[in-house]
Amino acid sequence: MRALFESVCGDCDEKIRTGEEIARTDRGAWAHVVCPPSKLDLQRPVCTVCFTEISVSGACMCGAAS
Ligand SMILES: [Zn+2]
Ligand SMILES: [Zn+2]
Repeated sequence: MRALFESVCGDCDEKIRTGEEIARTDRGAWAHVVCPPSKLDLQRPVCTVCFTEISVSGACMCGAAS
């Protein structure tokens, strides 16, 4: 069903916004049907040279090429 009010997802702990598809978990909590990617993933930059995601450590495929 679609969320009728804002709440917090029981699976990923991210906010559920009104209108998002949610389902009730076996624990009785509401959760996203498909949880969004974590904020960490969304904020991860992409290297403009090799076009791979730069990891948390700052590495990308540029260093792995040689
Ligand atoms: Zn979720
Ligand atoms: Zn790179």
